[in-house]
Amino acid sequence: MGAEVKPVINSMDDPLLERFRPQERCEHLNFDVHANVARIEKDETDKTIVAYSVDLRLHCRDCGLPFEWVGLPLGFSHYQPTVSIDGQEMRVPAIPLGGKVTEGLAGFRVTMQAFPEKEPTRQ
Ligand SMILES: [Zn+2]
Repeated sequence: MGAEVKPVINSMDDPLLERFRPQERCEHLNFDVHANVARIEKDETDKTIVAYSVDLRLHCRDCGLPFEWVGLPLGFSHYQPTVSIDGQEMRVPAIPLGGKVTEGLAGFRVTMQAFPEKEPTRQ
């Protein structure tokens, strides 16, 4: 039995890099967009459609690298575009042409907050 031989990548031009991390060599010239349209029902008992949501994911067709959506709030809303926690799914509310946005639908937003360095002490 011999010791495992690990390939060594000597530079960014090394052909081994292409084999192990092709996305670092890809120019991302071709894309696939995966779209899912969800019809949102009022609730479990009332199946009336009150909203639509279009979920979009973008990948490089050549290397498969997913893209992240930039500049959108984390969460889900029926009133503005949002992005999933991993940043890879954009969720866009939509209505049929000439339709009206249903008011009062629930959503959520994720906010970031730093933890305090130590717990507050009791007075
Ligand atoms: Zn690519």
